[in-house]
Amino acid sequence: MILFDQIIFGPVISRRLGLSLGVNLLPIDAKICSFNCIYCECGFNTTMREWPMPKRPQVRECLEAKLRAMTLEGRLPDVITFAGNGEPTLHPDFEAIIDDTLELRDRFCPDAKVSVLTNSTRIHKVSVYRALRKVENPILKLDSAFDETLRILDQPVGRLFSVAWLTEQMKRFEGDFIIQTMFLRGEHEGKAFDNTTDVEVEAWLDVLDQVKPRQVMIYSLDREAPVKSLQKIPVIELNRIAEKARVRGFNVSVAG
Ligand code: SF4
Repeated sequence: MILFDQIIFGPVISRRLGLSLGVNLLPIDAKICSFNCIYCECGFNTTMREWPMPKRPQVRECLEAKLRAMTLEGRLPDVITFAGNGEPTLHPDFEAIIDDTLELRDRFCPDAKVSVLTNSTRIHKVSVYRALRKVENPILKLDSAFDETLRILDQPVGRLFSVAWLTEQMKRFEGDFIIQTMFLRGEHEGKAFDNTTDVEVEAWLDVLDQVKPRQVMIYSLDREAPVKSLQKIPVIELNRIAEKARVRGFNVSVAG
């Protein structure tokens, strides 16, 4: 599995976002997340944490230095993306760090967007919600409309997480957000799953109808996952699912 060993990483060409400069707010030697997805590129959650989460001034300094260097190179990012070794909204200063980032973005690369890849587990927190409403691309995860499938795929750490709860929370974004969904089939701990079946896709579309995201990003496995019995969904199938969502009026992008 690959852990990001820096606070600022890249830039990399992202399948979904363009030239993306990454920000990792988690420790650089461990993965910490409120989900424990069976497909996570960073592997399963770790408990060892020699390095703490980076402090707000440290993040600001590193980001400023990188943007300054990129300005000198004449190669500015299309997007500054919060991702990294786990769930970025777990950082206690998440909102303040977003404020710093927006300020630096305005100074160095005003055309760049700020994206946050979040698993949606903390969008009920006032400051997390506020921060996500400030960035151009809050990208919220919804891997299934069924609690049972979601528990297998995402393995939420908290017991209270449910699709009904998530649906209500997503409605608060008033349509100004993006949904990301990982499509996958396979088996884990003796349980088979497949979130591409007609029943799954119809229920997923029904949730989209309720929460009305301005964009939907669907994708399948790209890199090595901690569970080996996972099957990548071919692009042709992803396109079929995307078409169903487009028929319902959604703007959908597919990354194979
Ligand atoms: S939400 Fe993201 S970081 Fe967390 S386990 Fe899932 S894929 Fe990994």
